[in-house]
Amino acid sequence: MTDTEGKRGPAASDRETFLRMSRQRQKDTRPEILTRRILHRLGHRFRIANRDLPGSPDIANRHRRWAVFVHGCYWHRHEGCPRATTPKRNREFWMEKFEANQARDRRVADKLRNRGFTVLTVWECETRDLEALEERLGRELPPDHSSGAHSKGGSLRRS
Ligand SMILES: [Zn+2]
Repeated sequence: MTDTEGKRGPAASDRETFLRMSRQRQKDTRPEILTRRILHRLGHRFRIANRDLPGSPDIANRHRRWAVFVHGCYWHRHEGCPRATTPKRNREFWMEKFEANQARDRRVADKLRNRGFTVLTVWECETRDLEALEERLGRELPPDHSSGAHSKGGSLRRS
């Protein structure tokens, strides 16, 4: 990942913040963990941190062709969300970074859709209402009717 060096660059502290946030993206965040838990409960099987797919979706099932991105509202600019604020200082710098993020998110989603994937974005703030999120994911993700009842989570259901 390159950064715009040099002329009238932003304050070093902003650049550090930017780099720190970029790195944080890789970790198991609480919203990610909650989302995985719901998907498990809905009977989905999946892999996390799918580096072999465009954009490394946080959660995906390549055979069932779906991918879920769990996005921070601030960093990925959740539209209309109170968390998607813009710093007053170095506004231009941040706007540029945010726009680049959004453009990348769109590009990646398009690539996946072109491969026939259902692509969903779960926003960080959605994980505050888990019932609503479960309802949404149940509606928007095709249920896993494939054979074999062993889900990695261990909930073996027999009927
Ligand atoms: Zn939000």
